[in-house]
Amino acid sequence: MTDKHSRLCTRESGTDYGALGEHLERPDRPEEACGVFGIYAPGEDVARLTYFGLHALQHRGQESAGIAVGDGETVTVTKNLGLVSKVFRESDLDSLTGSVAIGHTRYSTTGMSTSWENAQPHLSAIGHQVIALAHNGNLVNTHELREELKGNGIRFRSTTDSEVIATLIGHYTQVHNHIREGIRETMRLIKGAYSVVLITEDALYAFRDPYGVRPLVLGKTAGGHWVVASETCGLDIVGAEHVRQLEPGEMVKVSADGLEVERAVPAEKPSLCVFEFVYFARPDSVLNDCTVYEARRQMGAALARSATADADLVIGVPDSGVPGAVGFAEESGIPYGEGLIKNRYVGRTFISPTQSIRQQGIKLKLNPLRHAIEGKRLVVVDDSIVRGNTSRKLVQLLRDAGATEVHMRITSPPVRWPCFFGIDTDSQEQLIGSTMSIDEVAEHIGVDSLAYLSLEDMVSATGCAPYEFCLACFDGAYPIDIPDEIRKGKLSLEPCGEAG
Ligand code: SF4
Repeated sequence: MTDKHSRLCTRESGTDYGALGEHLERPDRPEEACGVFGIYAPGEDVARLTYFGLHALQHRGQESAGIAVGDGETVTVTKNLGLVSKVFRESDLDSLTGSVAIGHTRYSTTGMSTSWENAQPHLSAIGHQVIALAHNGNLVNTHELREELKGNGIRFRSTTDSEVIATLIGHYTQVHNHIREGIRETMRLIKGAYSVVLITEDALYAFRDPYGVRPLVLGKTAGGHWVVASETCGLDIVGAEHVRQLEPGEMVKVSADGLEVERAVPAEKPSLCVFEFVYFARPDSVLNDCTVYEARRQMGAALARSATADADLVIGVPDSGVPGAVGFAEESGIPYGEGLIKNRYVGRTFISPTQSIRQQGIKLKLNPLRHAIEGKRLVVVDDSIVRGNTSRKLVQLLRDAGATEVHMRITSPPVRWPCFFGIDTDSQEQLIGSTMSIDEVAEHIGVDSLAYLSLEDMVSATGCAPYEFCLACFDGAYPIDIPDEIRKGKLSLEPCGEAG
């Protein structure tokens, strides 16, 4: 056997983003925690196809990006901090040759810990075999697992979910001498949300947690090659047809033997994150056979039925509020227009060099169309209010541009509970929907009126009902038990029964 481990290679791409973490602004809305992509396509430029796939998934994470390629002998990773377009140069992609690849775009859920080490794919060795793994989601029992498994001689270098998953797969693959059994055993042990892609030197694996909290879809190119991605927009960009979603608890393997599918662990109550429909997913993606754009349009229409307003113009907060604004306008008969223009080139790794400039963050991202809104009574449709800071600045921005009234309409209920499944929504005290009544929020952000969509109308608008969702950040009913040490400091109320 050749010494593949000796060729284990992780490269940093040419751009230096090492110091960016200090300058990141804390966002005032839930932030997604990663997009994953994988392809098995011998004879194709798998690194470039993955690069395109990551471009389509850029909205799911802008802190770091990485690609790992298997060339039949070993696995090589190139990753760095920053947007996909900044991380990879032509020469990086030219040097990543092989037949199988995975990629990852990352948003960190661990505070401001923007570090190169946390960028994915995560590379590790199982004896002489090299694997790379990329993960979307968040485990809730890493601490417990680490403590339990230390006694078995398993050593962890860090506390990141991805390293825990990779270490467990490595350990149990060696125990059973079989990587799929290593993955099965790991899936039986880990708890939480995970959509994972993994490659060896010559095969692609993908698996999804038994609740299906984070999305993961399977597609096929015209050339017959299999592709997996967090969202269908990641399939579209490489010309792959959407075949189906990976079912909760399912594992697929793609290799020279073709596609092999198995139920690795029994499925639990389906709990797809409803926020994927409200905000995270790209509007052109399809989740559970339901179009995200249409769901958002229907959310806006439902809001117009339950909470219309006397107004002259409906505008949406780009990007996720726009389809809702279109639906609100269609249903209410109030004209729709663009009122805010988004600067598309301000990413999470944008550098604001001074505090005074950072305080103007909202203006860096959104600019009002003064001629369109001056003298108008506005309905402003947005997807959510999490901490309230951005909404407050936005309302002031619109008033400064001449809006005479601002009626805010939100296409989801108040966010009252933190997320433990890969979304950064802070502790409960920092959620404005948890600490203030709707009237108090309206006063705080300075609007003339404020209305939220009901939980029932939001779910119904997805078109997926009676498909069951995770709705925990709205109703506190977490589909997966949250261990006390994770709850501590994040939850100040008892879950369930508090949401309205
Ligand atoms: S708690 Fe909220 S953000 Fe987190 S998975 Fe559930 S619905 Fe999504």
